[in-house]
Amino acid sequence: MEDLSQRALLGLDRAELASLVESLGEPSYRAKQLLEAVYRQRVESIEQISTLSQQLRETLAEKGVSIGLPQIEKRFVSQDGTVRYLMALADGQSVETVWMPEGDGGEAGDGSEAGELAERFAESSSLSASGAKALSEEEPTAALKRCATQNQRQEQGFNQRQNQGLNQKLDQKLNQGQNQGRSTICISSQVGCAVDCQFCLTALLGVKRNLTAGEIVGQVCAVLKDQKVSPPEDRINLVFMGMGEPFLNYENFVKAARLLVEEVGIAERRMTVSTAGIVPRIHDFGGEKIRPKLAISLNASNDELRTRLMPLNKKWNLEMLMAAARAYPLRTREWITFEYVLLGEVNDRPENAREVAELLRGMRCKVNLIALNPGPGIEFTTPDGERLAAFQTILREAGIPAFVRRPRGRDIYAACGQLKRTVEIATAPAP
Ligand code: SF4
Repeated sequence: MEDLSQRALLGLDRAELASLVESLGEPSYRAKQLLEAVYRQRVESIEQISTLSQQLRETLAEKGVSIGLPQIEKRFVSQDGTVRYLMALADGQSVETVWMPEGDGGEAGDGSEAGELAERFAESSSLSASGAKALSEEEPTAALKRCATQNQRQEQGFNQRQNQGLNQKLDQKLNQGQNQGRSTICISSQVGCAVDCQFCLTALLGVKRNLTAGEIVGQVCAVLKDQKVSPPEDRINLVFMGMGEPFLNYENFVKAARLLVEEVGIAERRMTVSTAGIVPRIHDFGGEKIRPKLAISLNASNDELRTRLMPLNKKWNLEMLMAAARAYPLRTREWITFEYVLLGEVNDRPENAREVAELLRGMRCKVNLIALNPGPGIEFTTPDGERLAAFQTILREAGIPAFVRRPRGRDIYAACGQLKRTVEIATAPAP
């Protein structure tokens, strides 16, 4: 019989659970009961799986089988409703997971409703003039459907003026609060991170270890349970943008994404994974059957600057990164998102914006602009609003949809690049 000690059910797929119940001499329908209990009911202990016989529950417990749900050790609640969770893992390590209620109010392109709106409008920017007119006069969904049909018939490039108008329309809709009712969970994929982006607090931790697929899915299950929401009834977006580089924990990340789609019930179009630019994995990811949308953390407009800000650029430079992005097999209505963290007086100049526009020319993409979220130990400053706006304008005038992300949970260190503080405290050796 298989050694089941220390085995967590979270992270096992259908086939693995079937093999587990078979090894115990149990009928195959037990695997379905376990799937339901672990991923849909999100029970915390074997004892709570009421569909199993008492005897089987005892056998599983005796053999050291657990659910493997991360324990919520601390919650930090922001003024804007964002919650940063400190999750304790079985081996004493910790990671952070962030809950952003009701969309993101402008964090376009991260799988949220704001992101969807951005995509829809960005998509329509390459449509015919009549398609654009429809958007201004009709209810957006109907207009977008019609535009999509026209788009199939007419392969057209960007129309800059049209694109600008649609960008304004998107901004209006976001300001009107039309992205309400969707929440986003930001998940970690590693304890710490090895990538060493110079503007990121997580980088200061270094990498401690990869998370298992179960620990990645477990963060989602723990937050869903805590927030008392359940997909697909509640529309939940996921972003793999927490601690760690998902493409340096590729197998576990891909398995977790599959479990989240197939067992937890979150559509892949509601998930976005962000990579710092692990080029070989971008190629691999394009061939995955189940894959979240792709975001690439760009952050610089030329190799010299990018190598300074993101040392991994020495290994995979902009030419290699852009070649991978251009070769990436996009699905219908899919766009690549490029994230660009603006650092005051470093990468926020008009010439940087023009270089970015040149890098992305002709690509089916959009850009999310993020003003640096400051933190102790980070040498950079947040750019002023005018620089940010000017950067956005240059991109938009070049025909590239560009959106400014509003930081969420900055006051509790939950914003982009800020995940570190409590992990550091929780994992520090006792004095
Ligand atoms: S920005 Fe992302 S990839 Fe870069 S160090 Fe931070 S967590 Fe790692």
